[in-house]
Amino acid sequence: MNILILGSGGREHSLAWAVMQNPKCDKLIVAPGNAGIAAIAQCAKLDIMDGAAVVAFCEGNNIDFVIIGPEAPLAAGVGDDLRAAGFDVFGPSKAAAALEASKAFTKEICDACKAPTAAYGHFTDAASARAYVDKQGAPIVIKADGLAAGKGVIIAMTDAEALAAVDEMFDGAFGDAGAEVVIEEFMEGEEASFFVLCDGETVLPIGTAQDHKRVGDGDSGPNTGGMGAYSPAPVLSDEIAERALEEIIRPCMAEMAKRGMPYQGVLYAGLMIKDGQPRLVEYNVRFGDPECQVLMMRLGAQAFDLMQATAKGSLADMQVNWAEDHALTVVMAANGYPGAYDKGSEIKGLKDLPEDSANMVFHAGTVTQDGAILANGGRVLNVTARGATLAEAQQRAYAMVDGIDWPEGFCRRDIGWRALS
Ligand code: AMP
Repeated sequence: MNILILGSGGREHSLAWAVMQNPKCDKLIVAPGNAGIAAIAQCAKLDIMDGAAVVAFCEGNNIDFVIIGPEAPLAAGVGDDLRAAGFDVFGPSKAAAALEASKAFTKEICDACKAPTAAYGHFTDAASARAYVDKQGAPIVIKADGLAAGKGVIIAMTDAEALAAVDEMFDGAFGDAGAEVVIEEFMEGEEASFFVLCDGETVLPIGTAQDHKRVGDGDSGPNTGGMGAYSPAPVLSDEIAERALEEIIRPCMAEMAKRGMPYQGVLYAGLMIKDGQPRLVEYNVRFGDPECQVLMMRLGAQAFDLMQATAKGSLADMQVNWAEDHALTVVMAANGYPGAYDKGSEIKGLKDLPEDSANMVFHAGTVTQDGAILANGGRVLNVTARGATLAEAQQRAYAMVDGIDWPEGFCRRDIGWRALS
């Protein structure tokens, strides 16, 4: 098969790495890709937000199957354009992608099927949002309804912060994404990510993970896109995972089908767990980055068979063959991230690292220039390893980090601490 992956991050490098191992894959193209991906697949220039351009590219390159990595093309309906042109696609329709593109929509689905989540109000004007904050009081969570690149959530510890956040959103700080605002009860507990595939009807769990959002050791400093992750997440015990499936995920998927917008793709449920009870924080309609890297490391080649069954509606016939081990990834970022950072510094030492089924450096933001690998983004490398225990995976990942010569970059030194402590 000729397979196309859309995207350019560490998530897409790990997807490409898994797909390449599947014997069904004859040719793999990634658009636009990055320097790490270029070492294992063909990269192509393509505007992945332009459905007509993606369809034309697939027709011109005899593509049989398309995997859409990021949320933006999904929310823009690129998957629908491809399906209308007859291509098999891994990724939900534009209508179903509303589970990530609109927080109010997700709350409405949870209401309809009584899935446990934070109590909330949905507002289209500042005055009624302010009145709700006055009534509920802090701590409280203010969210822009639409896609805001992970930045549209403000956790307000005081009423004054909450009111300022409401004003900021209605004043356009998040553009159209903040034209509507969801205000939620602040939930306490431990967070974990639960990944399932859904083919419109059947739900198949494919793993759990925990990421590290803050930039500094001990979960200090500002939020980032994610500084590291590991899988499985022990906080999501089999029993809690089963509760999440029964009380939250399966009812929501049934509600989507009932509304004529069956969900087909990977569903990433962010859960808050307290006293054994999982509650939904949010849904994402694609793999998390860097959580995807640890999931792909554990799934390997079968990941493509599972994606194909998701697109074809045959997940009921599938099962996941788990290696009973652990994977951990450390994000290396450019100094200054998540604030301002420089691009173009050279990363040395990568060639000498072991790269096999237990050790991989996935590239997130890199380019090649005259044979050298240069940093080209905020999050730059995902140094990933497997081990029989989480401690072993952590030790292997940091051994690789220590072999990388890149003074202009940094990483957290404590990825995995919560599960290991
Ligand atoms: P979201 O984009 O909805 O996942 O929110 C980003 C992050 O904000 C989550 O990963 C949580 O850490 C936090 N968060 C969101 N909603 C709540 C809530 N209702 N209570 C506590 N923390 C929350």
